[in-house]
Amino acid sequence: MRDLNGDAMGVPMQQNIPAGDFPILLVEDNPVSRRVLEKSLAKAGYDVTAVENGQEALGAFQSRFFPIVLSDWLMPEMDGLELCKAVRKMSLPGYIFFVLLTAKDSKNDIIQGLNAGADDYLTKPVLQAELMARIRTGVRILELEKSLKTAVEKIEVLSVTDPLTECYNRRYLNEQLPQEIKRARRYRRALSLILCDIDHFKKINDTYGHAAGDLALKAIVRRLTASIRKGIDWISRMGGEEFVLVLPETEFRFALKTAERLRQKIASKPVDLADTHLFVTLSFGVTGFNADTLKKDISPDKMISKADHYLYEAKKSGRNRVLGDVF
Ligand SMILES: [Mg+2]
Repeated sequence: MRDLNGDAMGVPMQQNIPAGDFPILLVEDNPVSRRVLEKSLAKAGYDVTAVENGQEALGAFQSRFFPIVLSDWLMPEMDGLELCKAVRKMSLPGYIFFVLLTAKDSKNDIIQGLNAGADDYLTKPVLQAELMARIRTGVRILELEKSLKTAVEKIEVLSVTDPLTECYNRRYLNEQLPQEIKRARRYRRALSLILCDIDHFKKINDTYGHAAGDLALKAIVRRLTASIRKGIDWISRMGGEEFVLVLPETEFRFALKTAERLRQKIASKPVDLADTHLFVTLSFGVTGFNADTLKKDISPDKMISKADHYLYEAKKSGRNRVLGDVF
């Protein structure tokens, strides 16, 4: 754990922030001043990269992202104000907390600096304690940005996840299947779809209770997920005990084989339902198009209803079987 304060007067609340998480780009043309600032920031635990002017600073951004920029105002080549404007126009992975260092301290200069997009300013000569306080302000803002980003990412994942089985939900299917079809057709690739449904699921719920039914759903999804190509194929819960598996770059005949393999895998080993073990089977309806079927009119609805038709036939003809047809 590092103390960011750079002095003996630690502020406990801020000690948990690892300074190294927020590398600083220091931009200063005066070599003495640059060296002094670089040293004091490094001493406080910051990961500092020092450059001589705005042009070099932009160059540094080519190889690395710096969430904190501490830049002198007056410099040859490109000054701090121009650098700030340029940085604000760049498309970067996160926010940059930009602090201008300046000998200028008239209100007009400060307003000009802030208008150019700077978050804060420090007047020269820079006081060590003030420098650290300003940087800590930046770190607090960046930490907040980071936690908001994480929260948004979590919400995005949750919004397409089935809470019980943790596979994708119907919403994801509605969003992604049209994309998969478009992509496959654009690049002239095959795409297949397997619809499956747990046989006699109502009986499991009625006999063993809903908690057991939930366990069965989870176990089945775990087994299906483990049997498909990770990062390529995906599974989505249609609702109830019905699931869709989408298999990109897979011709219908191979999808049929995959479904048969899945059917055997599920049927061959009982599902653990806390108190008991239960043999569960699935029925499958399969469809897909090959690279040579591109002229046909194919839509997500048509694919699903075709698979659904064969799933229905599989159920009708005795369950625990795979039926399907190519598009
Ligand atoms: Mg200067």
